[in-house]
Amino acid sequence: MDRNYFVLFACCIPVKGHGRAVIYDLQRHGYEYIPLLVYDLIQECRYTPLSVLEKRYTPAEWAGALSFIHYLADAEYGFITDTPEDFPDMPMQWHFPGPVINSVIEYDGSQPAFNLQPVIRQLLDLHCHDIQLRLFGHCTMELLNPVFEQIRESTLYTLDLLVPWSPGFDTAALFSRMQKEHRLIPVTLYNCRDASLAAVVNETDDFLKTRVNITKELFRPGTINEKPRQELFVINTEFFTEAQQHNTGLNRKICVDVNGYIRNHIQHKTDFGHVSQQQLKSVLDMPAFQQKWFYKNDQIEKCNTCEYRYMCMDTSDIVIRKGKVYKKKDCGYDPLTQQWAD
Ligand code: SF4
Repeated sequence: MDRNYFVLFACCIPVKGHGRAVIYDLQRHGYEYIPLLVYDLIQECRYTPLSVLEKRYTPAEWAGALSFIHYLADAEYGFITDTPEDFPDMPMQWHFPGPVINSVIEYDGSQPAFNLQPVIRQLLDLHCHDIQLRLFGHCTMELLNPVFEQIRESTLYTLDLLVPWSPGFDTAALFSRMQKEHRLIPVTLYNCRDASLAAVVNETDDFLKTRVNITKELFRPGTINEKPRQELFVINTEFFTEAQQHNTGLNRKICVDVNGYIRNHIQHKTDFGHVSQQQLKSVLDMPAFQQKWFYKNDQIEKCNTCEYRYMCMDTSDIVIRKGKVYKKKDCGYDPLTQQWAD
């Protein structure tokens, strides 16, 4: 019997949404829209030889189906094989060897509500992977230098900095520090009134150009917009597998707001005590704190019909109404119409 099957590579995974599907290309970090009919065709091809499938279609339909199969093969999403059993699906287990992956800390240098360094120390001791430090008020290199010293010997992967620009801020010292400490990425200088600074950064080598953002925008504590947007989607194996079990915006995240209160996310209403009285580790161990880590998009109304549900990172709080799970903030995308609101 003819055994010619069309099989997608294990790292190219089709995901069905309400009105269309998407092939997630986890190795090349991209995605491609496909019609729902092609999604169904791909599922059939996995288990049924093309020669058998052909008999289920009219000649015109089969010509169309074949053109899609050839397109997918040419684009290197899949291949034709007579031994599909040799190409199993990718395992979906996800594991991270620590209690916290990332953290957001908001800190006001003019009116500090807590000591910054002990908080950073706790995160480093927990082997936190990424920290975003959002600074407000008066910010100097005297505030930042001790933090840079702390991360030097740590396992931290990135320190993402939001720094308020002011006329006296020593940008040259910050840029020089970035050259030595490659984990300072990205650095955003906001409320920047120095028009020449962007030119200075752009005229340097690619190192600073690709790491420093300069904006006139003024950020305020607790209001930074983190709504899902297409440019923020993450397409890789780690994210995809995490999304099968977890809420990728909240899982193993711990945040400290500008007043020192510990939360799942800065903009969530519920707090888990003040950072001057609670150790971050004891909060991370609380079942109530961990609860939202497990509301994956598959369980959340609207997201469960969205083709982006395994690439979208959304930090919105979760609400339960009449036994159904919802996100508190609407993302602006409608899976029914495939349109984004302005
Ligand atoms: S509907 Fe859900 S999964 Fe889709 S883009 Fe919005 S927040 Fe993300």
